[in-house]
Amino acid sequence: MSTIFSRNPRTGSILKEIPKTPIHSMPQVFERAARAQVLWSKISVKQRAKKMIHLREVLCRRLDEIAQVISEENGKPAFEALTCELIPSLELISYFVKIGPKKLRDHEVKFRNPMMNYRRSTIVYQPMGTIAVISPWNYPFLLAFGDLVCALLAGNAVVFKPSEYTSLVAQKMQELFDEAGFPVDILQTVYGEGDLGAAIIDQKPAKISFTGSVLTGKAIMKQASQYLIPLSLELGGKDAMIILPDADLDYATSAALWGGFTNSGQVCASTERLLVHESIAPAFIAKLKEKLSLLSTDADLGVCTMEKQKQVYEDHLQDAKTRNLEFYTGGIMNSDRTRLIPTLVGGVGIEESKIYNEETFGPVIAVTTFKSVKEAIEKANRSPYGLLASVITTNMSLAEEIARELQVGSVMINEVLFSAGLPETPWGGMKDSGFGRKHSNMGLYEFTFPKHINRPRFGFLTFKSWWWFPYTSYQSQFFKAWGGMYQGGVFEKLFNFPHFLWTLLKFIKNEPRL
Ligand code: NAD
Repeated sequence: MSTIFSRNPRTGSILKEIPKTPIHSMPQVFERAARAQVLWSKISVKQRAKKMIHLREVLCRRLDEIAQVISEENGKPAFEALTCELIPSLELISYFVKIGPKKLRDHEVKFRNPMMNYRRSTIVYQPMGTIAVISPWNYPFLLAFGDLVCALLAGNAVVFKPSEYTSLVAQKMQELFDEAGFPVDILQTVYGEGDLGAAIIDQKPAKISFTGSVLTGKAIMKQASQYLIPLSLELGGKDAMIILPDADLDYATSAALWGGFTNSGQVCASTERLLVHESIAPAFIAKLKEKLSLLSTDADLGVCTMEKQKQVYEDHLQDAKTRNLEFYTGGIMNSDRTRLIPTLVGGVGIEESKIYNEETFGPVIAVTTFKSVKEAIEKANRSPYGLLASVITTNMSLAEEIARELQVGSVMINEVLFSAGLPETPWGGMKDSGFGRKHSNMGLYEFTFPKHINRPRFGFLTFKSWWWFPYTSYQSQFFKAWGGMYQGGVFEKLFNFPHFLWTLLKFIKNEPRL
């Protein structure tokens, strides 16, 4: 098929037919991007930041319309599109517009060793060229938008391939950049499926910024390795929330409720595993179940965006049923199969089940218990994933200790999930959750090529370095004395200094460099 049918997952109706970008056009797409990038990279970061401010204005003007499109195509409530995608996107532009010019400025390196100060080093943060941004459907706006803003601000061109399930949102995003006056071809959105993504990689982009599943991440890494393309991979998760016995039950259940069921659980950092202290588990489960029954399906919960994901739910539910696990609530699809009824599952054998170990990416929380803090940490870490974890307790020092032991990219104490939307803090995972960081100065530097330029400190005046040819005896004594200057504390260094100076003078006087 040469078109993508953008569909409303609530009704199945077609929202728009979007022509697929032909795979054979990729060389031209990349040639155009390269031409646009040469000019864009010559503009100062401040001027690029000004364009971002226009972009923010355009987005502000069209906020309701874009929220509506996200909600229609992705199936989340429009309120979530606004709060969890668009407001964080506005915050993200505002932050990077502020820090971009400072962080991307040339940076002079201070040498610790005075013997090196006859030279000067500068780091210049150069653009990399054309970046490939490949993104998923669950946060179709925010996730790609963050990459586009950082990559463009750093002076790159971008070829953006959105998920085939949210092409309409991507089309709207391209419109926003065009309306804000970004140069033609500096951002090119291309529409298609995985084969288009693979064709993009064959064009050898300067970098791939991928957000999506572990399976696709591995395929991309394999393909990229042929050309040694650097990449960052933001992959899946099976995030744990640890509830300690002193936690406020009302607060903890609300945190679990939002952490597990916002965006209908279709969140990389969704609370999919709940580790509750055994002493409070029955009361906790009862309260969470009660709160779940109060969620209004239409206002609070969206629908499942895609068929493939429904099949994952059904597979995990089937496995849970075969194991006779306990469904406290949910466990079935609704009558028109647009959503999974929010599910809370536990019982004997839960820790061996698929629903506890594999990413479900849906409105599901698998509950288990623990007896000690040590056991909670072990259980939380017993996962191939390592994206985010939460700890709910009133004991802040213990929470800090636990946070340091957890094998994840972010830990939220008495909160859940929202750090993914904070532009100031690095976002990313470890283990199967991938590598590389979005957001913060680290996220910005992901799209730069830091070049080191070393030059004489005083104009062109310099002298031949100590270690140049010929290798001689005075030179050797001097370097031995230099080695001695690393030894011991201040007094020992002071004691060694006259000898060091003496060898230096003898060396300079007797053995000129070639
Ligand atoms: P996916 O891996 O199926 O697809 C992601 C993107 O990759 C899509 O645009 C798709 O068309 C493209 N693609 C597929 N095959 C490709 C190939 N061979 N080469 C190049 N591109 C290819 O993921 P999805 O179903 O869209 O998203 C859900 C997954 O994303 C979940 O696992 C979720 O945890 C993860 N995710 C992670 C983060 C994070 O920040 N860590 C954020 C959101 C989603």
